[in-house]
Parts: sequence; C-alpha cells; structure tokens
Amino acid sequence: MIYLKTEDEIELLRKANLLVSLTLTEIAKKLKPGVTTFQLDTLAEQVIRDNGGTPVFKGFPNPYGPPFPASICASVNNIVVHGVPDNRELRDGDILSVDCGACLDGFCGDSCYTFCIGEVKPEVRQLLKTTKEALYKGIEVALPGRRIGDIGYAVQQHCESRGYGVVREFVGHGVGRAMHEDPAVPNYGRQGSGKQIHNGLCIAIEPMIAMGKRDIALLEDKWSVTTRDGLPAAHFEHSIAIHQGKPDILSSFEEIEIIEGKQY
Ligand code: MG
Ligand code: MG
Repeated sequence: MIYLKTEDEIELLRKANLLVSLTLTEIAKKLKPGVTTFQLDTLAEQVIRDNGGTPVFKGFPNPYGPPFPASICASVNNIVVHGVPDNRELRDGDILSVDCGACLDGFCGDSCYTFCIGEVKPEVRQLLKTTKEALYKGIEVALPGRRIGDIGYAVQQHCESRGYGVVREFVGHGVGRAMHEDPAVPNYGRQGSGKQIHNGLCIAIEPMIAMGKRDIALLEDKWSVTTRDGLPAAHFEHSIAIHQGKPDILSSFEEIEIIEGKQY
C-alpha cells in the first residue's frame, strides 16, 4: 500500500532527512586513516539523539540472525551494504559507505554516502562518481506520470554502460512514517513498467553498484553483504518527495561535498 504524503508530512520528512544529512556530515569531518567504524557509529548515535531523533537501524530485525546492533551501516570496500561497525581501523585508500536512518517527529530519514579515505585509486573514484551520477539520473525521471521502472532503467543504463554491476537483491523503497514503505524501487527495470508516480510519493533511491560483477554473498555475521568477486562497491542514497510536479531531494550532500572539497 502506497501512502502519498501531504505537504505538511513532506516537510516533516525533510526534517528527519536533514538530521540524517547532519549525521553524515559530522561523520565526514572525522574520517581519516586510523578511525574505526565503531567510533563513527558512536558519533552518529550521539548526533541523532542530541537532536531529538531515534536511530532506526538500531535493533532492526534480521530473519537470518541477530538484530542490527548499530545506528549506521558502515560498509568498507567490497562490502556492498549492511556492514556492521567494529574496531577495524580505516586505512588510506579505503572507501566507506555510511548508510544512516533516523526517526524524528514520527517520520524517518534515510540516506547514504560513500566516502574516500585518503588517497583512493582513480578507478575506484570513478565507480563512486558513476554511482552518484546514477542516483541523480534516477531522481531526474521521478516525475508525476512516469513509472517506477523508469527510475531503475535510468540507474541501470548509466552504470551498466560503463561496465559496472548493478546489485539487484537490495532496492530503494517508499519512505515515510516507516523507513521501508511501498513501493520497492529497484535499480534496474524497463521503461514504462511498474507503478505510476504521483505527487505526494516519497521514496528513497539508492543505487548499489559493484565495480565488477553484481553477484553478492552474505557474510557470517548475517548482515554484511559482500561482492563475490571481492571488488569494491559503492552506495549513494537520497530520500526524495515528488510534489508540485517535480522531484524534491529531502536529504542533502551539500555540506559533505564542501568537506570533501577541502579534504581532497
Ligand atoms: Mg539507507
Ligand atoms: Mg534505504
């Protein structure tokens, strides 16, 4: 069941998403070799709670094992999604996807950014650039009257034409009072297929793109998802609202990109 949101609800959803963006920005400021993903998780939880929010990932149920123990997913290099924060230190040349969800005033924000730690190989930077571009390609076609398949088609075309693998087992989703609502928003698809997009639709678009093949495997912790070929993967996510005839991005990478510009 798809819940279309009112303008007031969209503004609440924006606030929750901007809290997630603030959290990712605070993480961006701390990134350097030697930092652990556990430290980043502690920081994330503090930022969310200090601003009146609740970390939605913490305690998230898992059909295959224990609930998720942390406030962020921290996925390093070959980990595609759902990396569990731990005491491993980040190293120069790593990439790190930080996915974060926060609930504020009854609405959930959800956004993800893949960061570079120190000097990252040009071919890996290219993967990050392409994945972020694909996210915006998907957003561009999220217009009233178009269909969910148009979003997936745009993402898939952009990435596969550059030789990358589009992960299919995990998808974007509706977002609102729950972090995961209908409809599912795959990163692949046919133009003109799937549910029609209407004003009031709020969705998270989140390409998960592998440098090599799209095949994945679940690690023993029953959360971390790795590429089977061990090559890196990137993940960028915005929550958006389609209203007033166009897509409106509710989360923001603006501050992160300023920090990245200074840092690199
Ligand atoms: Mg997310
Ligand atoms: Mg999501």
